[in-house]
Amino acid sequence: MTLAVDLPVPGRALAIGAHADDIEFGCGATLAKWSAAGTHVTMCICTDGSKGTWDGDADLGALIALREREQRDAAAILGAHDVVFLRYVDGELDSGLEPRAAVCRVIREARPDVVLGHDPWQPYRIHPDHYHAGLLVTSGIVAARDPHFFPEQGIAPHRPSTLLCFEPGRVDHVENVDGCVDHKIDALLAHRSQWRSTMAIDDQPDVQRAAFADKLRSEARATGLRAGLRAGEAFARIDDL
Ligand SMILES: [Zn+2]
Repeated sequence: MTLAVDLPVPGRALAIGAHADDIEFGCGATLAKWSAAGTHVTMCICTDGSKGTWDGDADLGALIALREREQRDAAAILGAHDVVFLRYVDGELDSGLEPRAAVCRVIREARPDVVLGHDPWQPYRIHPDHYHAGLLVTSGIVAARDPHFFPEQGIAPHRPSTLLCFEPGRVDHVENVDGCVDHKIDALLAHRSQWRSTMAIDDQPDVQRAAFADKLRSEARATGLRAGLRAGEAFARIDDL
């Protein structure tokens, strides 16, 4: 399959992730590139992050607040303008009508040219929130563009031009992120409460932080190679919205 490289820099972009840190893993370098080029970037986090710890005795109210602070810090590093927290219970996200209306509202309010989200069709993924967050993005776009969905919202319909699915089941689009990978790494490291559970940074933080950064740089190099670039982020791209 031929790989397309680089969308035109969008005026407005909206990235939707299940959890704090998912967007940075999936498309952090692309968002950093676009925001530096003038794109208005909005991030939307579907869940409250309340299961994102291996500590069985954690104070969950404090954890939710901490994860939102970390997400705002990460957004600032990427140059994003807004973060919207939908605060559904972590691990219990579904893709029914109520959360679909919430995502539809975010799309109608943010009015993005490009939406980025989890690929709902990625095979053999076990975390249900990623699957449901992906479905909420596709069903939310369909609702946002058509006036007879959720008219009680009283917001004009909005049809984005392109959807980029991150961590994709098939890759047909690559964004050139040469020079932006370190912003992605810095944004991910802002999620300090996730170092142990998702970044394998624990008892030897200096060594393990460096190993984490190396892993992300080599992933970006490998993706870039597929498209003749020095660094890339991979997507499944849908233009027919
Ligand atoms: Zn996640």
